[in-house]
Formats: sequence, structure tokens, C-alpha cells
Amino acid sequence: MNTPLLEAHLKALKLPAVLANYQRIAQRVDDPVAYLADVMSVEMERRHENGIKQRIAAARFPTIKTFDSFDFSAQPGLPKMKILELAESRFVDDCRTAVFYGPPGTGKTHCLLAIGFSACTNGHRTLFVTAAGLLNELLDAKRDGALTRKLRNLDRFDLLLIDELGYIPFEREATDLLVQVISQRYERKSLAITTNLAFEQWTQVFPDAMTASAVIDRLIHHGSVFEFNGTSHRLRNRGGKSTKESRT
Ligand code: ADP
Ligand code: MG
Repeated sequence: MNTPLLEAHLKALKLPAVLANYQRIAQRVDDPVAYLADVMSVEMERRHENGIKQRIAAARFPTIKTFDSFDFSAQPGLPKMKILELAESRFVDDCRTAVFYGPPGTGKTHCLLAIGFSACTNGHRTLFVTAAGLLNELLDAKRDGALTRKLRNLDRFDLLLIDELGYIPFEREATDLLVQVISQRYERKSLAITTNLAFEQWTQVFPDAMTASAVIDRLIHHGSVFEFNGTSHRLRNRGGKSTKESRT
């Protein structure tokens, strides 16, 4: 019989009446506390799984990807252990940043989705957005006078995944909002992004060099940059045996 575990469960489950009475009720039965502990463990397990499911649904992943299906041999330059460490989600606890940089089709979004999926299973509230989608939502919110609410809503997520930064240049108004989101998260919440642009090229996306360097500073100060190389996985497998796997 493990009473401390049972009492921890009853507190976590917010069942104060059970906590206060289970010993008294137990006197009427042979070994009811052990039984109750088993029952509560099942309840705990179910709530834990429901939490994971809810976080995955809230994350708005376009598709589920994990590292089980990622072929690291196709990216020999990528530090596998460091990438797998991201899947342990400590970087989320530490409010750190990860940047996946490289040409199209090299698995950046796959890895972004995989660290997001792991974060959900590790108890972190996660949101996946594309840079363009995020900026449209922010511009809409601003126009509707709901920007503060929108920013507060984004702030609820422990990990924000921004896919495809740099594919299209943004207007000043939009980049200012992006800078606001990145600044808001700096040292408080975690962020992971994918981009096809080297930092030197970020002035193509941001309206001026000052803004670009301010964003880069915030991203790399407590963060890691991972460079993806090589030919596109999509092109490599086109017509080949693994075509099915390469489809997004
Ligand atoms: P990127 O975001 O860099 O453009 P994606 O992550 O979208 O590339 O990859 C394109 C497709 O190829 C996806 O279906 C992805 O799962 C797959 N893919 C890319 N690299 C790998 C890899 N190393 N192992 C397994 N699948 C990969
Ligand atoms: Mg991508």
C-alpha cells in the first residue's frame, strides 16, 4: 500500500473529500486503500493521456511527424543528439529558441513538427503556425482592435512553432507585429522556427537592417541554429520506392 502516492493523486485530482475520508471509509473494508490507489492510478493515467490529446489538437499541426520516421543519415551534417535533445523538451522549460535553416525539402518542417509533437506529450502547450498565417492573423486582429487579446492568446503557449519564415517578404506593419511576438517571448517562452534564409539575408524579409538584427539577436541569444543541407527529400524520392513516405 502506497499512501503518499495515493494522497498525491487525490490532491492532484482535486478530490479533497476523498483525501479527508478515505482512511475512515477504508476501515470498513479489508484492503480498500490499495484498491483505491489502483483506481486513482487509472484515473490519473487517463487524464494524462487526455491532456496529451488536447494539447495535440490545440497545436493545429498540419500533419503528425515524429523523429521515428526521420532519416538522419540523409542529413549527416545535422547534430542528431542535439536534435533529439530538443524532443526531450528541456529547451521549452528553459524558454530557449531553435532555428532550423536550409533549402526546401531538407526536413526542416518535419523536425519542427516532431519537436512540437514531443512537447505536447511532455506537457507543454504548443502552437504551430506558418509565418504568413501568423502575420495575417495578427494583422486581422489589429484591424479588429483585438491585437492585445491575440498576443495574450499566443502567450498562453509554452512553445510557438513558426514555419517558413523568409519565403515571402512582409510589409512593415506585419514585420513590426512579428518583432512584437518574438520580443514578447524572449526569455519567457520558447520559440522554434524554420527558414530558408541565412541570417545575412534577413534584411530581405525585414524592412530595415536594425529590425533584422534585433530579431536575430533575440533568436540566437538563448538559442541554437541547425543547418539543413543537401538535395530535397521530395525530389530525391520522386518516382522512387519511398515516394509515399516523402509526401507531406
Ligand atoms: P522543408 O521544410 O525543409 O522544406 P519538409 O520537412 O517539408 O522539408 O520535408 C519534405 C518531405 O520530405 C516531408 O514529407 C518530410 O517528412 C520528408 N523528409 C525530409 N527529410 C527527411 C528525412 N531526412 N527523413 C525522412 N523524411 C524526410
Ligand atoms: Mg517546410
